Parts: sequence; structure tokens; C-alpha cells
Amino acid sequence: MSVAFHGARFCWINGDVVETGKALVSAMEPIHLGIFEGIKAYVENDVQSRGKLNIFRWKPHVERLRRSAAVCGMRIPYADDELLEAVRKTVKANRFDTNVYIQPRIWPKAEAPQEVHVVVPAWTFETVLGGDNPQFSKNRRFMISSWRRIASDALPPQAKTWANYGNSALALREAQRLGRDGAIFLDNRGFVSEGTGACIMVVRNGKVITPPVTASILESVTRETLLKIMPEDLNIPVDVRDIARVELYASDEVFLCGTGGEITPITSIDDLPMGKEYPGPVTKRIADYYADVLSGKTEKYKEWLTPI
Ligand code: PMP
Repeated sequence: MSVAFHGARFCWINGDVVETGKALVSAMEPIHLGIFEGIKAYVENDVQSRGKLNIFRWKPHVERLRRSAAVCGMRIPYADDELLEAVRKTVKANRFDTNVYIQPRIWPKAEAPQEVHVVVPAWTFETVLGGDNPQFSKNRRFMISSWRRIASDALPPQAKTWANYGNSALALREAQRLGRDGAIFLDNRGFVSEGTGACIMVVRNGKVITPPVTASILESVTRETLLKIMPEDLNIPVDVRDIARVELYASDEVFLCGTGGEITPITSIDDLPMGKEYPGPVTKRIADYYADVLSGKTEKYKEWLTPI
């Protein structure tokens, strides 16, 4: 999406920190059965500077990693604190002091399918959040994909399995071929589902509406975070319900939310502009507050931060 990432020199693989280019596995690995998690650590006090890093919402991320593994019949041979230590070691080995994206990956071993490989690669990235960041207000022209989101009786959209991203990649490639910046999926019933790597939120008459988990979406940590802070801290009413395609076209604002893309405003869908102002005032308010939460400026949510 619109966040730029830069790969790291070191990663963690099956218990050791090694150079990323030397973290080797067999070419015979069954990678189609892999799962992963996308986690970010932000600089304390200012999402756009250098300094001390805190992982945002470690607990729900590690819980989802375990759920994704369980859905695929895999058992992770490390306790939560061992996985946290792996993440800390990876970030420290790279001497990172700017925002970091961490992506634990797990898949069955080719030679012993009951066992798994656990790898923790990391990247630095440039946030779209923070005050007048021009990356935030960049134009983003989206389309409704001609590909439907995978139904949960075919693949598990609620889990973070690599196989699901084949569906996302097809939609993204189609969008790029047609000169758009991204795609929105409908689910197999024809209701709005999610983006290719983020959940969708629609602003109509001051209210934020987002599809339910049964609309073939990933159980997003960011979505859950926003569903809490919007009504509690920003006095923005929220509604979790199915959204018809036509409602999207008649929205005041639309934005995507996810760990990777953070809060990403959308300029138009199928060439129909979203509202009168871009980025919309509600999206901006939410993004500014969310940036404060991520950087530990909001006392109430400091418990969501785990120091590296
Ligand atoms: N949907 C999909 C398909 C995703 O890949 C992501 C990114 N993980 C999300 C939604 C947002 O989830 P989260 O807020 O947990 O990053």
C-alpha cells in the first residue's frame, strides 16, 4: 500500500539471530501452508522521529498468530514470552531506532510436517501518520475488484494465512493494470468486505460503519482498536453491519485501517469521489488521535505498548 518499507540485515530463525540472506530453508518447503502476523513497533512520543521503540498491541497479535496456526493444524513450539524475546532480539540486532514492521512467519517443515519453522523478519517503514505528513493526504483512487473476497468455506479469511493473499494479489494486480491504486473486495454475498490488506471504514453522516467479521474479513487488530477509541475517546458513533456497494458510492469519507497501511484515506472508488473534502475531517481526527496512541502520548492506552 502507501507505506514504504526497508528490509533488515538480521532476522530470527528457529531460535537464532542470523543474517537475513543466510536464513536458509529447503527449496522443498510447503510454503502454501504458511501463516504470519504483521506487527509494528513505534517510536515513543513521535511517530515520525528516532528513539525508544514500543510494540503496539503485542498480545492480540500473538493471540491471532496462535489462532491462525490452530486453524491450519499447526502448533507453535514457543511460549508468548519466547516469541516476544525473538522479536526484541531481531530489532536490537538491527540497531533499529525508527518505526519497525515485524512479520513472524510459520510453516510446516518439509521433512517433519508436525513441526514448524518460525522466522521473524523485520523492516523499517515510513509512516503515513503524524500531523501534516504529505503521505497521508496523497490521492488514492480505488476500485471494486471483479474478484470476490474468499469465502470462509473455501479459505479462512479470519486467519492470516499466506494462501489468502493470492486472492489479494489478484485484486491488486487487476487494480494496477487498470491504473488504480488499490481494490476493495465484495464478499461472496455481494456486500462490502475489506481491502487487499486492510479493513474498510465508511463515514456517513458523522457515523463510522464497518463490515462484520462474517463479511469475510480478517479479525483486524486495528479495526478492533478503532472500534474502541472512536466512540470512547472521540465521541464518534460506530456501527458494525453489512454495507451495500451503493452505500460506498454515497459516502462522505472512506478509509482503510490496518497495521501495515495504518489509516489510509481513499479519494475515489470506481472514479466516484468520496465526499467533498479529501482527506475528510473525521478520517483526519481519527488518524491524529491514533498516531498519539501509537506513540504513547495517550496515557489511557500505554498498556497497549510493550517496550522493545
Ligand atoms: N485485512 C487483511 C486482508 C489484512 O491483510 C490486514 C493486515 N493484517 C488487515 C485486514 C488489517 O488487520 P490488522 O489491523 O490486524 O493489521
